[in-house]
Amino acid sequence: MTERAPESKPSIDTALVHHPYRPPAGFAAPQPGVFKASTVIFPNTAAMRARDWKSKAGYTYGLHGTPTTFTLEERIATLEGGLHTLLVPSGLAAIALTDMALLAAGDEVLIPDNAYGPGKELARHELAAWGIGHRHYDPTDANALAAMLTPATKLVWVEAPGSVTMEFPDVPNLVRAARSKGALVALDNTWGAGVAFDPFRLEAGTTGAVLGVDISAHALTKYPSGGGDVLMGSVTTRDPALHLRLAATHMRMGSGVAANDAEAVLRGLPTLALRYAAADRAGRTLAQWWSQRPEVAQVLHPALPGSPGHAHWQRLCTQSAGLFSVVFHERYRAPQVDAFVDALKLFKLGFSWAGPVSLVVPYDLASMRKRPAWRGALVRFSVGLEAVDDLIADSTQALAVLAAPNGS
Ligand SMILES: *Cc1c(COP(=O)(O)O)cnc(C)c1O
Repeated sequence: MTERAPESKPSIDTALVHHPYRPPAGFAAPQPGVFKASTVIFPNTAAMRARDWKSKAGYTYGLHGTPTTFTLEERIATLEGGLHTLLVPSGLAAIALTDMALLAAGDEVLIPDNAYGPGKELARHELAAWGIGHRHYDPTDANALAAMLTPATKLVWVEAPGSVTMEFPDVPNLVRAARSKGALVALDNTWGAGVAFDPFRLEAGTTGAVLGVDISAHALTKYPSGGGDVLMGSVTTRDPALHLRLAATHMRMGSGVAANDAEAVLRGLPTLALRYAAADRAGRTLAQWWSQRPEVAQVLHPALPGSPGHAHWQRLCTQSAGLFSVVFHERYRAPQVDAFVDALKLFKLGFSWAGPVSLVVPYDLASMRKRPAWRGALVRFSVGLEAVDDLIADSTQALAVLAAPNGS
């Protein structure tokens, strides 16, 4: 009996790097695959030299895109009604990319007074240091915005509604005002999330002309992820030339996102609309409940009649994010309201929103706005996915702190 000697075993050092096995093609599953790379391998030098990082017909380097990030970009573009999307490591990085790509020394950017705070800080520090001016405008007055525009105004930011104070602006008229002087319009679309309204189709005229923003920046950290466990941002456009300006800066800045983070957002997208609708229902129920409470001076929620800009919300939107702010009566001092916040059990104390866990943050309006419209302490609520009755019960028990003798 003769036994064939095994062929000499290849060096495992090499074999485990250059293994010949290729899994069969045709694998299909509900979620797209996760491709991870810094290096992308070219078949030959001609292919390497022919590759253009700007073209999404192929792959150049991990930073410039993988099947995973290209897939997420396409889905975010679809969500927002855009054509081109760039991914960045946070929502704030989406604001920064837009500013850096579109502004140069001598230019000016106009930012609403109630915009997301860190974006205002970026203008105050880095943009100022680079010779880029900025001014804040009153987002409730499109005529005032029109009067502020100069030939140096290259970019106008719009946020709907404003952060924390939730004023809903007349978005179409703000866009028209900026356009009339040739400025580009960038919307922070985090609240709308591509669900509440269509940023690239705010109005469709009878002539077929469509009014929309030029750029939509979105903190995918919020509803698209929905998990409270990933940071990411996107910048979406419809204009190929504008996209290329943004993409060039994106490339030179070395902005990219990790495959596992992209996967986390891809996993959140199929349930985005359901989660948004659920947060909207619960948010309105809670906002209405708060508006009946005697401790409260005002509830700020765009879908609530009497909330600033409610009529503009009604014209543009069908839905709302699960986000609202409560302004307490002036008779409650900030430490009392802090004690209320600390007494909440289901609502956790933390920044960001749109995850499964309901969150609160107390804000000091006087330090945030040039002319605060309210004097009482403000608490911003983000409604998660808990049962709304439990959230009302939690709010009720925590309010007992305000009535307690040592708290009044
Ligand atoms: C959270 C948020 C951002 C920033 O997103 P990050 O991913 O946390 O950097 C920007 N704009 C708005 C309106 C936000 O709520």
